[in-house]
Amino acid sequence: MPELRCAISRSLQDALEARRARTGETLDHIVMAALADALQVDHATLFQISTTGALVQGVTGEAITVAELSRHGDFGLGTFAGLDGEMVVLDGATYRVGEDGPALAPADAQVPFAVITHFLPQRQVTLEAVASLADLQAQLDLERGSDNEFFAVRIEGRFEAVRTRTVGRADSPTEGPATLVEAAAGQTLFAFEQVEGVLVGFWTPTYLQTVNVVGWHLHFLSADRRGGGHLLACSGRNLKAALQPLADFRMAIPETPAFLQADLSSDMRQALEQAEKQG
Ligand SMILES: [Zn+2]
Repeated sequence: MPELRCAISRSLQDALEARRARTGETLDHIVMAALADALQVDHATLFQISTTGALVQGVTGEAITVAELSRHGDFGLGTFAGLDGEMVVLDGATYRVGEDGPALAPADAQVPFAVITHFLPQRQVTLEAVASLADLQAQLDLERGSDNEFFAVRIEGRFEAVRTRTVGRADSPTEGPATLVEAAAGQTLFAFEQVEGVLVGFWTPTYLQTVNVVGWHLHFLSADRRGGGHLLACSGRNLKAALQPLADFRMAIPETPAFLQADLSSDMRQALEQAEKQG
């Protein structure tokens, strides 16, 4: 990223330091958010390609490349064509977590579904003790001011235990592309203990249940980038959580024959629940 050098008044510097001490935000984030506001740059748009309902129906082919997706943000999650691994986008780098663990995804890798934003957290909290994923979700819920907008969350620290999964490519030559439920059935499970890492995730309102994974959806990446995946369980102490409310939502509909001709009218909540929570 380009670097900015400029002179500012003493009073602005004092105000910056006070904000930094209060929220724990980095100087970069405070200045970028302020500049984006002043210059009316869209900095809090959540961009999504395709829908979870389409994944459930087996619309898992190409929709957008990693390079195109990354123009819409530096922080996100998703999957890859053929449901071939879990995606984690962190600090502008896109990782594919496959059966062998994470690796940087090539710029031309195809993405059937993803959610991404420019991460500029507005509040930070320390989660002193997290006993389980359900406990983590309940503690994060207390930091949300609404059930009806999106939130991005980044949680960092040393985890006592983490369990993740990655979906596996399960296309059949005769039956066609795997649906999300089939790919989840062929998942690979990972378990980590005493691991430094980051959770990347989003909270989606219930009224969007055929569009995205409602509630908290979290993907993990270890600090050494050797482990990761879709989060199934976790525990830890003194975890730092940073949250960003997102009220500006943009969804791109893939103009592919597979998407345009799919029957997306049925209620796919049960199938999605099964695919996202099992393990
Ligand atoms: Zn996931």
